[in-house]
Amino acid sequence: MSYRKAINDKCKDCIFDPSNKHGTWRQQVYLCTVSSCPLWPIRPHPSTQNAIIQADEYAKTVFLSDEKISNDLKQMHS
Ligand code: SF4
Repeated sequence: MSYRKAINDKCKDCIFDPSNKHGTWRQQVYLCTVSSCPLWPIRPHPSTQNAIIQADEYAKTVFLSDEKISNDLKQMHS
């Protein structure tokens, strides 16, 4: 098993709720807010920009501030 798959599997196991209709496992992991977790900086993200935008839009309506999303996006693209 690759490190990438091991990390992906760990994050999916940690946070993914299949009954949550607002997001794929990658979207739910992307929205993880446990920045103190050692895997947080390397957690998987959705593979398309549209899926990221969709997750951010959902997060805005639920629990994340625009500032947090903006910081995450800056970090992701730096
Ligand atoms: S980064 Fe988030 S989803 Fe992944 S293992 Fe850590 S707490 Fe769980």
